[in-house]
Amino acid sequence: MDPLLISRLRNIFDDVHQSVCIVVHTNPDGDAIGSALALYGLMKKIGFEDLQVVAPNSYAAFLHWMPYNEQVIIAKKSEQAANEAIKKAQLLFCLDFNGFSRTDQLAKHLKKSNAFKVMVDHHPSPEAGFDLVFSDPSASSTAELVYEAIESLGLKDLIDQSIAECLYAAIVTDTGSFSFSCNNPRTYDIVAELMRLGIDGAAIQRLIYSTYSLDRMRLLGYCLSEKLKVIDGHQAAYIGLTKQELAGFNHKEGDTEGIVNYALSLKGVNLAAMFIENDDHIKASFRSAGEVNVNLFARLHYEGGGHQNAAGGKVYFGMEEALMHFEALVKKGAHK
Ligand code: 5GP
Ligand code: MN
Repeated sequence: MDPLLISRLRNIFDDVHQSVCIVVHTNPDGDAIGSALALYGLMKKIGFEDLQVVAPNSYAAFLHWMPYNEQVIIAKKSEQAANEAIKKAQLLFCLDFNGFSRTDQLAKHLKKSNAFKVMVDHHPSPEAGFDLVFSDPSASSTAELVYEAIESLGLKDLIDQSIAECLYAAIVTDTGSFSFSCNNPRTYDIVAELMRLGIDGAAIQRLIYSTYSLDRMRLLGYCLSEKLKVIDGHQAAYIGLTKQELAGFNHKEGDTEGIVNYALSLKGVNLAAMFIENDDHIKASFRSAGEVNVNLFARLHYEGGGHQNAAGGKVYFGMEEALMHFEALVKKGAHK
């Protein structure tokens, strides 16, 4: 890591009496929560006492086993506590996002804050407004950057099993269990180090991926057998789920996570989409293979963004229209 950035970070870590807030993006995933909790664990060990973790909204139950999970303030549920944590912070860490708008209702508070703002992130095109920027789109995950920062600071000895578990879970989830975004030794070198600290990779894998409720499993079956559509001749597939359908399977946060990847697993498909109806919008998720750039596609057509092969966005009209609109975009080659 850039020695200049690291030396600035080292200076920041000198004052353990400052008020610190670690913030993650809306709909936090394993990388966001894992990175935040790993940093929380590390900073606690260094001696920071006034330390909070804030997430804009709640997240999947398969992430709740992580060490320090009980520390996370969910802004949607505890608005005042979250706003207070941001308002009093002198130091803000923004993890796994690179523009304030990714935190929805927290964005205005983050922008207003006079705190020193550190971004640690691996999405392309970081935005302005941060005081110290650790941005590397070639990293598998934000957790990888958190690990490398800890190492560069000479604090590797402080990584204990709990911190290692958080980092490992983050890397596993952001690489689809080492199946993308890690086509180099870097991620594996870090994971080897985490393994040496005694983490149980198989157990963590089960905690994340083998904790389906029967409802969730049946929802997956329904999506694949009833809802999956292929756009013939265009190497694209998609699934749309209405609120009513979700309710029929007693939908819980995180139940639809990963379903879009099945659409991408079809032979010949290199663009997959999933549309999920929320209260005031439809959440779109995109996955692609190879050169198809869903980050651009989501930015241009869905007020969103993400990575080249995994991105998301929003639609503000009905499900039927949303699906027709997607088909039309694909048929005119908007993703190419
Ligand atoms: P997912 O489809 O799993 O929600 O998100 C996939 C990727 O796209 C993640 O890296 C996530 O951070 C990013 N992403 C999802 N939704 C949005 C959005 O509305 N705006 C932007 N900029 N990125 C998004
Ligand atoms: Mn990430």
